[in-house]
Amino acid sequence: MIRRFLGRVFSGRLFRPAQPKIIPSGAHGIDSRSISSCAQRTTQMLQRHGFAAFVVGGAVRDLILGRKPKDFDIATDATPEEVRALFRRSRIIGRRFRLVHVMCGPETVEVSTFRGSNPADETDDRVADEHGRILRDNVFGNQEQDATRRDFTVNALFYDPATQEVWDYHDGVADLKKRRLRMIGDPERRYREDPIRMLRAVRLAASRGLEIDAATRRPIRRLAGLLAHVPPSRLLDEMLKLLLSGHAAEAVAQLRKEGLHHGVLPLLDAAMGRAAGERFVEAALRSTDERVLSGKPAMPGFLFAALLWPEVEAEYKVIAEKGEPPVPALYRAMDHVMRTQAGKLAIPHRHGADMREIWAMQPRFLQRAGRRPFRLLEHPRFRAGYDFLRLRCSSGEIESMIGEWWERFQRAGESERAQMLVSEGEPRKRRRRRRRRGPRSDEGGGMRGPTPTGAQGAPT
Ligand code: ATP
Ligand code: MG
Repeated sequence: MIRRFLGRVFSGRLFRPAQPKIIPSGAHGIDSRSISSCAQRTTQMLQRHGFAAFVVGGAVRDLILGRKPKDFDIATDATPEEVRALFRRSRIIGRRFRLVHVMCGPETVEVSTFRGSNPADETDDRVADEHGRILRDNVFGNQEQDATRRDFTVNALFYDPATQEVWDYHDGVADLKKRRLRMIGDPERRYREDPIRMLRAVRLAASRGLEIDAATRRPIRRLAGLLAHVPPSRLLDEMLKLLLSGHAAEAVAQLRKEGLHHGVLPLLDAAMGRAAGERFVEAALRSTDERVLSGKPAMPGFLFAALLWPEVEAEYKVIAEKGEPPVPALYRAMDHVMRTQAGKLAIPHRHGADMREIWAMQPRFLQRAGRRPFRLLEHPRFRAGYDFLRLRCSSGEIESMIGEWWERFQRAGESERAQMLVSEGEPRKRRRRRRRRGPRSDEGGGMRGPTPTGAQGAPT
């Protein structure tokens, strides 16, 4: 009885919904011209038909921070069917929660109906697991409930392009001005409902230059283990967002500080424990950040290959020391690492294939005699393999001269290339002699480079 009463109190059915702060145009810093034309047209159309319609979430946050939003989401009190009926080019998507994609030219905006979320509400259609994680939350709600079910105060802002007002139920604008990331409601309960929010906190703080509020941060370390119960595909989505945010180096450092990496990249621990591995992963993340921030595409397979490389190398050594020949040892090490990771992140097959190609190419960069370098140049993933090699050089894992040799070799004309190879004639004889004594570390699957003046021949 009491529970039911409290449920009704908290669901807002007995009390009128809390009133938002309405921040007028000019006081929040959003220039209405930075709202995409598709978002403008969609909100106008909905409002013309008597519905409430706001730009919401990440776009409003980013505009107030003076950043260009990646995309625009719209929140409305119209049902998905009502939205669908208003826009010729639209379709209803989603199973967990149905929303509508409205398309205008090349742009798509996502329109979602206000959603409620209050576990105390007994009419609520939600189901949670034994850790409090919400498995289903298919309930419509009012605007205030829609604000409250969002994760952070800065993500719960509504902007009306018609009036240019921001509707703020949780002091998100004040938090943004203070550059503070604060959870709505009780942080521990919200993390239990959806542990992904811990990763979102770290990613948003690192990528938007926000500081995680003390109470929001405090439970993370203790609850980090809850990530183990999140479906691997959701973890992967969130990790990709984090790694491709342009601030991956910072975000991964923060993940480690909070102990969150155990749940997502358990191998990172081992990798980072070794100085060389740490330098390598750091260099990989920094170079990805540079690429992303300068608008170049970054390859997820490359990133995962880099994050897991120190582990492949370590495993390779263990297997090779037992007497396994280099190539099979490398392949077994790759398989082992991929298998260990599979239960945590569902790395899709296409990224997995890229990772294997990049790894398998590494020993081939050490072979700079005969036709082999030419064959490697023709490899469809040569560029990724080469970039990976340069990272290994810059982290001191192998001699930088090997990377320089390949840089020159790619740019060189025919005769210069021939000369670069010719200089290897002498060392090749030495190699043949050595071969009789057993496999060399730099042949086949060997991963450490020879000294630049060694058997592969140094560039002259
Ligand atoms: P970005 O798109 O830059 O990664 P975002 O905040 O827009 O950041 P989205 O994943 O696009 O992130 O989510 C859109 C909005 O949905 C968020 O701003 C937030 O209000 C809400 N949201 C997303 N994920 C969660 C979650 N796990 N729990 C609660 N609310 C969420
Ligand atoms: Mg978004």
